[in-house]
Amino acid sequence: MIVVMKKGATKEQIEHMIMRVEQLGLKSHPIYGTERTVIAAIGEKRDEFRQSLESGAGVAEVVPILAPYKVASLEVKPEPTVVRAGSLKVGNCHLGMIAGPCSVENEQQMLSTARAVKAAGATALRGGAFKPRTSPYSFQGLKEDGLKILAAARDETGLAVVTEVVAGVDVELVARYADVLQIGARNMQNYRLLEACGKEGKPVLLKRGPSASMDELLLAAEYILNAGNPHVMLCERGIRTFETHTRFSLTLASVPYLHERTHLPVVVDPSHGTGHTALVPRMAAAAIAAGADGLMIEVHPEPETALSDGYQSLTFAQFEELMTLCRKVAEAVGKRIAPNEEA
Ligand code: PEP
Ligand code: MN
Repeated sequence: MIVVMKKGATKEQIEHMIMRVEQLGLKSHPIYGTERTVIAAIGEKRDEFRQSLESGAGVAEVVPILAPYKVASLEVKPEPTVVRAGSLKVGNCHLGMIAGPCSVENEQQMLSTARAVKAAGATALRGGAFKPRTSPYSFQGLKEDGLKILAAARDETGLAVVTEVVAGVDVELVARYADVLQIGARNMQNYRLLEACGKEGKPVLLKRGPSASMDELLLAAEYILNAGNPHVMLCERGIRTFETHTRFSLTLASVPYLHERTHLPVVVDPSHGTGHTALVPRMAAAAIAAGADGLMIEVHPEPETALSDGYQSLTFAQFEELMTLCRKVAEAVGKRIAPNEEA
């Protein structure tokens, strides 16, 4: 249910209603909008709860939330959520540009990439220290050593660090170094990991599972939100279909679809979504045209020698060209690529 407060409801009335919601055994998620405050009351649905809450002072109405996901839905929060993490700002008119290699390989590779993507206009740095690889014989990442390299790259460039956490037991460690916790496609429905990231509180980039529906993605986000963390970005990175010419099928219709249902920002990853360097810049531009709030792009100093995903990585020069193209499309759709000024 949503407890919609009246426009002029006082702080005391709002706090009182939050307490009433909790007393009924429901979880409260207050959302302070520019127009009015609403309190999402999540838990077992009972008609008498609705009647009891409706009589509260300062309450305009109590309405059921129709979507299966609750806190993530536009019904609860009609204004777009803007996620900030260091230099990164994603959502509404702010387009975040997250760039960097698939994996952190060594300090030289990471620092040179950080400098190059920053110079080209990226607003955050990516790089996996814990890699979820299909084969146990593939490079698994440098783990904590990789996190230290990422932190050094942030210290030098000021770029926020986005890096993946693959297991609940690593959340605390990764959060010590990262600005954004990335939950990979393979882990989208690892509910204990989602809850652990929700409790940690740092911004989360949640990638869509290759066979997950939109509702499943939104319900996965709901786990993080319901654990108390409102800083969630969704990431479309393509799904598995019968088509084999691209690594995955990048379904860009999900961007406007999600924007009609959720206030959470939507990031697009055309690197994994296509699996081919040559296809990345145009799909990045298409994603912005479709309304994406951010992009995640794999960039490597020498894609040919990359330890993972070299075939879909851009060189520094290619990334610079992509940025030029993206800036034009961003301007055309009223979005701005700029670092978070508060960083
Ligand atoms: C990645 O971003 O490097 C990655 C592993 O992506 P995904 O989880 O989308 O496969
Ligand atoms: Mn990758």
